[in-house]
Amino acid sequence: MHYTETKEKSAELLRTVVGLMGQHDAAFTPVTYSVWYEYAAGLNARLNQALDRLKLTEPRLGDASIQRLYREHIAGVDDKTMDRISRDFQEVMSNVVDSVQRTGDRAGAFGAELHDLNTALQQTSDPSALYRHLELALQRSREMQDSATALQAQAEVSRQEIQRLRTDLDRAREEVFVDSLTRVLNRKGLDHRLEQLLHRPLAANASHGLVMVDIDHFKHINDEHGHLVGDQVLAGMGELLRKVVTDPSHLVARYGGEEFAIVLPDASLETTAAVAERVRATAKAMRLRKRNTPDVVLNVTVSAGAAALHHGESANDWIARADAALYRSKASGRDRVSLAA
Ligand code: GH3
Ligand code: MG
Ligand code: MG
Repeated sequence: MHYTETKEKSAELLRTVVGLMGQHDAAFTPVTYSVWYEYAAGLNARLNQALDRLKLTEPRLGDASIQRLYREHIAGVDDKTMDRISRDFQEVMSNVVDSVQRTGDRAGAFGAELHDLNTALQQTSDPSALYRHLELALQRSREMQDSATALQAQAEVSRQEIQRLRTDLDRAREEVFVDSLTRVLNRKGLDHRLEQLLHRPLAANASHGLVMVDIDHFKHINDEHGHLVGDQVLAGMGELLRKVVTDPSHLVARYGGEEFAIVLPDASLETTAAVAERVRATAKAMRLRKRNTPDVVLNVTVSAGAAALHHGESANDWIARADAALYRSKASGRDRVSLAA
């Protein structure tokens, strides 16, 4: 999930989220923050439904429920990153609490002093004593103003820190969905995004496109040049796909081994086939130089199958139809694109 809220919007959300966290029992951690942030921003419909349902039986949500919501509706992040972000977040929060408390203490003392001053003023008729009291009141109110300004500055620093931690957390969450060799989505990322896409109702005459792409005779490359070169070819294919598929709404994923998937939301079969064809032609034109031996040049071809989503179709059935089309490309000579019915 990408967070695209503006600074103003996220500052408003920050206030809402801090308010929500205060009304519930879960500890102030980034996990709690993320759950309430996504809830308040309305980014995640299923999280909101699950959370609203939970609130019926547990009006003040505790750590266990918040953690479960996080696990089930927001991606997992590796424990080390989570620990680091968690520690930083607690530090930010304790700074906020400290400075609010300091300002609160000072305001309390100021109130008491004003009260004493008022009593003293009522009792005195000595102008120089009155003058001293007024001096003191002026000085104290200046101090109050300073600490209020300091609190405001602290709040701004905290807001920026929290924003930075959110970015860290987003990045860590994205990383869970990225294949480290090819730098495209991994299978888990693809499943996640397909689930989101298919959850949205498809308009009457709309469709989504899917291309399954498989490198031809990849086993030969491994056998002839070794597994490491095979890995370089896979990385090169990831780069190629990221270059060819430039529309930010389109997804590229490594489906497994040397097979990739491209998902084109709101695209016709014609558009989908055109992207598949561009990938095929670009792959055929690509020349990969073997590292350390620049004279050895590899070239690969790919076969592809394209399918437009049918109404009511599951992700598995959709993928199976694109795969069947891919198989037809393989069977009829490779280096081609076939369309699913
Ligand atoms: P086809 O044209 O029919 O697709 O033939 P192919 O050789 O590409 O397909 P096959 O399924 O026979 O072989 C795929 C090979 O891909 C086998 C497997 O060892 C290799 N492979 C899978 N994942 C990786 C990887 O991460 N790195 C490397 N180097 N090879 C991999
Ligand atoms: Mg293959
Ligand atoms: Mg394969």
